Amino acid sequence: MSNLSYVPESNGAWQTYLAQVDRVAPYLEHLKDYINTLKRPKRALIVDVPIVMDDGTIRHFEGYRVQHNLSRGPGKGGIRYHPDVDLNEVMALSAWMTIKTAALNLPFGGAKGGIRVDPRSLSPRELERLTRRYTSEIGHIIGPQKDIPAPDVGTNPNVMGWIMDTYSSGQGHTVTGVVTGKPVHLGGSLGRIKATGRGVFITGQQVAQKIKLPLEGAKVAVQGFGNVGSEAAYLFANAKSKIVAIQDHTGTIFQPEGMDIEALKLHLAEHQGVAGFVGAEAISNDHFWYVEMDILIPAALEGQITVERAKKLSAKLVLEGANGPTYLDADDILIERGITVVPDVICNAGGVTVSYFEWVQDMASLFWSEEEINQRLDKLMIQAVNDVWKAANEKVCSLRTAAYILACERILRARKERGIYPG
Ligand code: GLU
Repeated sequence: MSNLSYVPESNGAWQTYLAQVDRVAPYLEHLKDYINTLKRPKRALIVDVPIVMDDGTIRHFEGYRVQHNLSRGPGKGGIRYHPDVDLNEVMALSAWMTIKTAALNLPFGGAKGGIRVDPRSLSPRELERLTRRYTSEIGHIIGPQKDIPAPDVGTNPNVMGWIMDTYSSGQGHTVTGVVTGKPVHLGGSLGRIKATGRGVFITGQQVAQKIKLPLEGAKVAVQGFGNVGSEAAYLFANAKSKIVAIQDHTGTIFQPEGMDIEALKLHLAEHQGVAGFVGAEAISNDHFWYVEMDILIPAALEGQITVERAKKLSAKLVLEGANGPTYLDADDILIERGITVVPDVICNAGGVTVSYFEWVQDMASLFWSEEEINQRLDKLMIQAVNDVWKAANEKVCSLRTAAYILACERILRARKERGIYPG
């Protein structure tokens, strides 16, 4: 149920987020006067983004930037280009960023943006015009000390480069720190592209050890084979796990003996997606959820693990590479069935962690080696997942609730110590 007049009642991502907050509230009694702060975004901007298409016609797109919480620092979070983007979704994604940055103890709040568009339907020039116009529309609320966008589903380093350039043109000087996930020669960080997938692997490895699930020989199924899913699959394959099933926007492939990831990479270099890979069998998209697996990595969009799927999954461990892939009632079933879930706000936090390193490097104009970035990333991720594991054992709750307890405590303490202006 939504608590805000401008969000329609629905079973959307924002409602999933609100239910997660309700679940953690009993653990935060000492901060209960402040909990409503989490149930509404601080600021939500909706913009019209008109562009001239290559054929001379004008099209209007709907754009958003939501700053959910800024209590602990500037807003931080990606920009999504996808046909299903709407206010409900962007609000939820921005709130999950608030929880994520706090769970990792990064000095940021949470924000998210997006445009309701299928980026594959635009030419490169149209995509650039769309990005530049959107940047100019949200330009007054972003900035290195205000809110720092980054890539998300449907955006990439090139898009970040255009955002940086457009924002800088408005300021009259180059402002690299306004956005992260930029190309490396424009002030981007080494290791940023692979960081989210790496974090999925690192947190998965830690938790697999704790639940005594050997990675060697483990059957892994991956949904989504973009930036996150492909790097995670690659690292699991390196650890001698078997990648048995992959689903992306082109279809689902299955290979019970484990796929040859190097051969798959060659296939992907030539084709749009995994469909047609000769080293595996094509299966239906629905069948993906029911193949025999030890580890499931949902690394696409929210709302993928439903009650029905949760009841039948054979995985012992779920690593949430995507944001919000599990409905809350499905989460309960996974808990009941003894399936361990490493929640999105920890599992996929590798991206925003290296975004933080990128922002720090831009501020200092001093850049680190990829080795140094990876060392720092691994250290923060291992610390965070171990803290969450410990809290879950102490409070006898799921890893998700434990992550929310740690994160919300940090956010609400900051809110309390800052006080409510004007007092
Ligand atoms: N879009 C990514 C996420 O959901 C990265 C955000 C960032 O780097 O700021 O965490």
